[in-house]
Amino acid sequence: MKRVMIVMGTRPEALKLCPVVLEMKRRENLAVAVCSTGQHRDMLESTMRVFSVRPDSDLDVMRTGQSTAGVTARILDRVDEVLEADRPDLVLVQGDSATAFASALAAFHRGVPVGHVEAGLRTYQLRSPFPEEFHREAISMLADFHFAPTLTAKTNLIREGKPEKSVFLTGSTVVDALRFTLRQTKATPGWGFPAGARILLFTAHRKESFGEPLRGMFRALRRIVEAHPDVVAVCPLHHHPEVRRTAAEVLEGCERIRVVEPPEIVSFHRLLAGSYLVLTDSGGIQEETTALGIPTLVMRYSTERSEGIRAGCLRLCGSGEHGIVQATGRLLEPDSAEYAAMRRPSRVFGDGRASVRIVNLLEHLLK
Ligand code: UDP
Repeated sequence: MKRVMIVMGTRPEALKLCPVVLEMKRRENLAVAVCSTGQHRDMLESTMRVFSVRPDSDLDVMRTGQSTAGVTARILDRVDEVLEADRPDLVLVQGDSATAFASALAAFHRGVPVGHVEAGLRTYQLRSPFPEEFHREAISMLADFHFAPTLTAKTNLIREGKPEKSVFLTGSTVVDALRFTLRQTKATPGWGFPAGARILLFTAHRKESFGEPLRGMFRALRRIVEAHPDVVAVCPLHHHPEVRRTAAEVLEGCERIRVVEPPEIVSFHRLLAGSYLVLTDSGGIQEETTALGIPTLVMRYSTERSEGIRAGCLRLCGSGEHGIVQATGRLLEPDSAEYAAMRRPSRVFGDGRASVRIVNLLEHLLK
């Protein structure tokens, strides 16, 4: 039996890898060990619990005020110890976090083959998103098998010179996850908003926005809500202290903005599905809203999820205050044709069977 070690450390990794873990557990000729680095402990664990996935090893690397360099070094060191003890046949990582990068590097050093889920996403701007673009490009250099969510991602990898037989188009496992979570409950979380209010969901946490750009994004949210009496906003706050400080400064005292702790994934997906409009700088949320058909303004100047733009559901509005207010205002106009055109679900990111494809491929590749 071949043994696969799946490493995860953050909320999006748990979300996108747990469906793969569950699928692997159904197969007789693969044994799976889950290694949690604990990079973002709370958000990681609550997401794993939803899928009833428990770690076989827990590296507990998170420290208060941790630097990217520090956390990367700790993961590299500790994953290496697990690899020495467990000697898996393959290490599977996902996406572009420090956990994914350092684990792929540790496996590379030990000569253990690496599989990369969500491979080939690119902005080709090394510092945007930062440090994720570097991580994903670096992981592609180290990986032996690339599981690309879309044709664009697959084409990127082949253009970069990866052997065609190592790149596989699978779809994104986020759609598998979304199907799982939406089956858990039908109830949309309420925050005491008046019936008929249009819910605007707002998330911002990218490191490259910290400082004045982030302040401008929150100011834009406040201006939008103050200008539209039937709009209420929900703003789940990322755990980073810089995000919390800025939100508290700018959003204080605005009645129709609910600043909330990040809802766990089942409530969050219900909230997304019940939203009128989403404003975000997140990566994964772009895929989820495209699958659900919820119009989304991406508060960035570039995205690695351009399929969602072509599908019509996503639009880039930049991270400047004025641009966000303008773009949102147009979509909130009564009977906006622009809005109606964006409100269409699309399967560009997957059909909900990506995990089955990835595990089928692994069974074959590890034979
Ligand atoms: N998410 C969540 N609760 C929140 C905000 C996000 O469960 O309050 C989920 C969301 O559904 C998405 C994932 O977390 O799948 C994205 O995480 P994040 O935006 O932190 O990371 P990114 O995708 O930008 O790397």
